[in-house]
Amino acid sequence: MTDTRLAELAANLSHVEARLVAGCAAAGRSRADVTLVAVSKTWPAADVLRLASLGVRDFGENYAAEAATKAASLAQSDVDVSWHFVGHLQRNKARVVAGFAALVHSVDRTEVVAALDNAASRSERVLDVLVQVSLDDARAASGGPRGGVPTTEAARLAADVARAHALRLRGVMGMPSAGRDPSAAFALLREVALALQSDHPEAGIVSAGMSGDLETALRFGATHVRVGTALFGFRPRVSH
Ligand SMILES: *Cc1c(COP(=O)(O)O)cnc(C)c1O
Repeated sequence: MTDTRLAELAANLSHVEARLVAGCAAAGRSRADVTLVAVSKTWPAADVLRLASLGVRDFGENYAAEAATKAASLAQSDVDVSWHFVGHLQRNKARVVAGFAALVHSVDRTEVVAALDNAASRSERVLDVLVQVSLDDARAASGGPRGGVPTTEAARLAADVARAHALRLRGVMGMPSAGRDPSAAFALLREVALALQSDHPEAGIVSAGMSGDLETALRFGATHVRVGTALFGFRPRVSH
């Protein structure tokens, strides 16, 4: 039996790989320094298994309950994958997220730091986290949909993470607002990242770039790109 979905995912993956290789070359960087995080939200565990069979090891999810179910299903297989939580984080989901995530990209407020720290200590683990930075301060002030701490408060939130016993600060994440120039947004993110790294040398991760703008993100130092649509196709509409 031929698996047409596997063939489709393989074709998408080789296209994304080619873009990563070309984007790294254009930025004078090495492909080996960039992690591809396949954002599998709304797609079934079977698709995660298919991409894993093609060599992808890092998967990103937005919704805690969906992610936990998928992670549990993958844990039944022999395939070893790492889960990234990239969605808006609610305090009451901290335990669920600390249960499956290797890296949380979306820490954007003090109460979430405390909740994750508690959850990670209870499971006797250390959880790697990124501070999500708003690249549009006007929108951050109005509590816009993309989340993120205002750039002016990133250092303070990073210090909160650094003080937490069961969390490890690994870097920053950011997304340009729709309709804004991604170069300006990623340049700002890089500035924030470099400032944080001077206080926290282990915080070298820059999570930036998605299907539409990964080449631009690579020019501004992205170490982790989060790619959904270009790998899986257009997402079916689901409600959570
Ligand atoms: C869905 C999502 C992505 C992937 O976006 P695509 O445009 O589908 O590649 C990346 N990051 C976050 C935070 C997301 O929610």
